[in-house]
Amino acid sequence: MPDRPVVTRIAPSPTGSMHIGTARTALFNWLYARHTGGKFLLRIEDTDRERSTEAAVQVIFDGLDWLGLKPDAEPVFQFARADRHREVVEQMLERGTAYRCYMTPDELEIEREAARAEGRVIRSPWRDRGAGNYDDRQSYVVRLKSPLEGETIVNDQVKGEVRFQNKTLDDLILLRSDGTPTYNLAVVVDDNDMGITHVIRGDDHLNNAARQTLIYQAMSWEVPVWAHLPLIHGPDGTKLSKRHGAQAVSEFDDMGYLPEAMRNYLAKLGWGHGDDEIFSDEQAISWFDVKDVVGAPARLDWDKLNHLNNHY
Ligand code: GLU
Repeated sequence: MPDRPVVTRIAPSPTGSMHIGTARTALFNWLYARHTGGKFLLRIEDTDRERSTEAAVQVIFDGLDWLGLKPDAEPVFQFARADRHREVVEQMLERGTAYRCYMTPDELEIEREAARAEGRVIRSPWRDRGAGNYDDRQSYVVRLKSPLEGETIVNDQVKGEVRFQNKTLDDLILLRSDGTPTYNLAVVVDDNDMGITHVIRGDDHLNNAARQTLIYQAMSWEVPVWAHLPLIHGPDGTKLSKRHGAQAVSEFDDMGYLPEAMRNYLAKLGWGHGDDEIFSDEQAISWFDVKDVVGAPARLDWDKLNHLNNHY
């Protein structure tokens, strides 16, 4: 557990509507920051230039606003930080924890075939060629020099100790051949620079946590505390869809739901305090701990939400 003041964040990609999964993640981060007297920050992960839109950024602002989850600082925009991401990759190259890989698409395909046949992950021959062999005229990607042996342990507040065999992790690309940073690199650099101590997010990112741990280690940065939240399922236990309630948070407003009721309801999706059905923000803040989040997927229950909404 870091002995720094707690800083949490929500890091949505502005590529569509803000649905209740994101709203619940925001709420848990906000509750934990409030509970510990820490800070709750917002980062807009707008590196996918084709899919990110200004309208979707506004939807995130409006959704958080409506829910009453005010970030404690101005939002950070990830795309604007690309130079900083590249700077960190330069530092990794200097430290020898990353390397330039000049494999051509054909060579990569041959290696991919060989790896598949031998039941292993791909390995670049450039991993062990010294810096002197670099040729800047050719196009290259920068890869992380991941450990070949041992294991990477993600000590997760919700999932427990999750172990990854390092031999199953290939050398992740950090910078593409056009110089753009990849997702895992950008997340780690930004979380580090923003002083994030607790990464609380959906468990679809659990595998990324292993890769991100390796990036932290490559920079000798302190790894944050991880907490990966189980997905929210529809009332029938299947993946949440628009039919079930995966609509934008703002639509709940149009449907007549109150933000207080929504907060109370979302807090209970995967977390709770005994049998308490109705509780105030103050109570949730004083009781909330990520350690108490349940590991099983939460199910959306409209009757319960309606019941709460009638109470407020
Ligand atoms: N941008 C990612 C998403 O929208 C979240 C990344 C993270 O929380 O680390 O799923």
